[in-house]
Amino acid sequence: MGHDGRWKASQAQGAKSVTDEIIRVTQPDLPPLEEVMPYLEEIWRSHRLTNRGAFHEQLETALCSYLGVEHISLFANGTLALLTAMQALRLTGEVITTPYSFVATANTLLWNDLTPVFVDVDPWTLTLDPEQVEAAITPKTSAILPVHVYGHPAEVDELQHIADLYGLRLIYDAAHCFGVEDEGGSILRHGDVSILSFHATKVFNTFEGGAIVSPNAKTKQRIDYLKNFGFANETTVVAAGINAKMNEFQAAVGLAQLNHVDDAIDARARVEALYREKLARISGIRCHIHSSAVRHNHAYFPIFVDEDYPLTRDELYFHLRDAGIWGRRYFYPLIPEFPMYRNLPRKSEGDWPNAYAASKKVICLPMYSRLDPTQITRVAETCIDGGGLV
Ligand SMILES: *Cc1c(COP(=O)(O)O)cnc(C)c1O
Repeated sequence: MGHDGRWKASQAQGAKSVTDEIIRVTQPDLPPLEEVMPYLEEIWRSHRLTNRGAFHEQLETALCSYLGVEHISLFANGTLALLTAMQALRLTGEVITTPYSFVATANTLLWNDLTPVFVDVDPWTLTLDPEQVEAAITPKTSAILPVHVYGHPAEVDELQHIADLYGLRLIYDAAHCFGVEDEGGSILRHGDVSILSFHATKVFNTFEGGAIVSPNAKTKQRIDYLKNFGFANETTVVAAGINAKMNEFQAAVGLAQLNHVDDAIDARARVEALYREKLARISGIRCHIHSSAVRHNHAYFPIFVDEDYPLTRDELYFHLRDAGIWGRRYFYPLIPEFPMYRNLPRKSEGDWPNAYAASKKVICLPMYSRLDPTQITRVAETCIDGGGLV
């Protein structure tokens, strides 16, 4: 029986003590239902369901102010935001991006008929290594698509320098970055545009949702046309746009969530602090990523299982699973390992040694605002006994 089968079998026996409760990698935040109801009543009263409704407009304004940015366009999800950003910036040919991300980062390139060129990440930040980016530029390159992995900023200054030097566009996949700031302010101000995801599993959610942060009103205008079929007015279509609009229900949920997101981030910070305290004495488990953020959102809690830990990463992953703790090997496999990426120019696994190393060592432990100290202790102790340390 495989590990999954074993876990199902032990569940089927029906033991239901506290320690048998499954701890999932995440649990979405929800605002109190009574705070959402007035919005729903207003939607039912007004019959405005979508197409730049009142809540959509309010949420754009509220997010600009919360995030400290000037121009934001809301989307039905983050993937549509990525697709649309690539259209808005008229990317062509090759786009340099990272193998170490969620698959949507590169899938959206393929959907736009663009060729992803994967280059390695820095071992300490896990974001694109600027030197390798520069080395991968060809006459066909039109853009760089870095990811602020786990909410930790990419090498924004070096990447902007390279983009300026070679006349390339710079699009950030900032799906992990809600509320993250570096010394100069919001991380979302960098590059030509930044994409956010408001998926259920992210720090701020609208069930499904996303956004593009633009540097100026002109770019936002173009993006707003594109997300609504290309309509510039009632009778004029200025682009082969898509339907990627956020609806009023999503926007209402977002407005209600926004009142609680600071508390949620504070709670995540406490979860992370307790994890760090509990895991500090385990040799072979590392939980340190270099980060230039000055305000973190604690979106994820990745640990790296090194050689001096008694179990391999996969052994620890399944040991946790057998104990009802569902971590995630995030990101594993690397994007270029998926079949639809295998025809791309590549030499060998040796192409992305740092990304491979991270992908073979990482487990994202359960991380969400309501994770309580007892649960955190249970996760940490399972890591400790997995290491034969108790
Ligand atoms: C979540 C995520 C996306 C996709 O966002 P959706 O809102 O789920 O479509 C894209 N890139 C990264 C890095 C993500 O984590």
